[in-house]
Amino acid sequence: MEEKKRQIAQAIDAVSQELSALAIDIHDNPELGFEEFKALGFISAELEKHGFAVQKGYGGLATSFRADAKGQPGGPTVAFLAEYDALNGCGHGCGHNLIATCSTGAFLGLASVIGELKGNVCIIGTPAEEGGAGKVKLLRAGAFDDVDFALMMHPSSGGSNLVGRGGRAACTVNVEFFGKGAHSSVPKNGINALGAVICLFNQIDLMRPTFDPQDNINGIITDGGTAANIIPPYARASFCLRAETMKRIEELVEVIRRCAQNAEALTGARAEITMDDISAERYSNRPMNQAFKDNMAALGIEMQWPDPKKQYGSSDIGNVSIKIPAIHDYLSITDDKTVQSHTVEYAACAATPEAIEVCIKGAKGLAMTGYDILSSEDFQREIKEYHSQQVPDFYRQ
Ligand SMILES: [Zn+2]
Ligand SMILES: [Zn+2]
Repeated sequence: MEEKKRQIAQAIDAVSQELSALAIDIHDNPELGFEEFKALGFISAELEKHGFAVQKGYGGLATSFRADAKGQPGGPTVAFLAEYDALNGCGHGCGHNLIATCSTGAFLGLASVIGELKGNVCIIGTPAEEGGAGKVKLLRAGAFDDVDFALMMHPSSGGSNLVGRGGRAACTVNVEFFGKGAHSSVPKNGINALGAVICLFNQIDLMRPTFDPQDNINGIITDGGTAANIIPPYARASFCLRAETMKRIEELVEVIRRCAQNAEALTGARAEITMDDISAERYSNRPMNQAFKDNMAALGIEMQWPDPKKQYGSSDIGNVSIKIPAIHDYLSITDDKTVQSHTVEYAACAATPEAIEVCIKGAKGLAMTGYDILSSEDFQREIKEYHSQQVPDFYRQ
């Protein structure tokens, strides 16, 4: 291993007790998206302890932050991204406490040698990944405008260390119907809003055979009335849409809109559609993936490239990856294949000594990859060229 990389690893080892405490503090205080004030406090305290100024509320979100370490002028900026939101009902069942800790360690590690490099390193705290698409809001606010490369890792399970995994585009669409209440003995005096929701579901099912293989619409009824002897005056459904691209999601939203308009025309219940920001499909940067894979191998963790035919989940890192070269690679925190993310079992795994050890190795791997980038202009060019060929033209303004 190169001398500088050894120095980076030593700098991270020197703070490993603090990182371990950080992972456990965030884990034991789970907070939902946009409410991650305790996590923000824990991470800021760690960064400030090492002399870094933390800009809280960065990009206009109350629980986001940014800290910088400047190297020699004239070089690019590498960002490590931290997520720290939890899930409703299963705490840190996605292990975002480990993402935050990993990126904090990576930042401290690369910052320890930044004076010898041309360029800068920063850490950006990105709230609300689990619903809320915090990174999309930060992008819109220009929070990534001076960032050239974005790196993060995500914990996984079952011994699956995946590098370069893609992700589908996704979005939540809510449809409300406003009808008219009536006594159930005289339904014709009312307008049944639940009937409109059921009509909507049936019409979406009618359209399913026309979907592309990667398209997926999953719906639930979140409000279907209050009592069986009342004609429901109000009903609401929520749909999770997934597709290969953000463009295709927009087409599927139009399908839902047409189905809702039909239900409205038939029943007389007025439809109202609202949607969250779309999490874009992911463009994983292969040269950066390869560097991270090599660095992790040197640290004793072998990573694999994923099966391209598999249907994967979604994240707002996709939107970042359209703008700048990015990686979001997976390190397994338990060999147990029965433990799936978004469960209480997974949340329990996200605070074990084994998980924290993987997280600290991940911090070293990310910091070393950041070093690979800042120390070679040829590598920077290779990454950017790959990115410009990989992202479809329709995303360029
Ligand atoms: Zn998740
Ligand atoms: Zn996650």
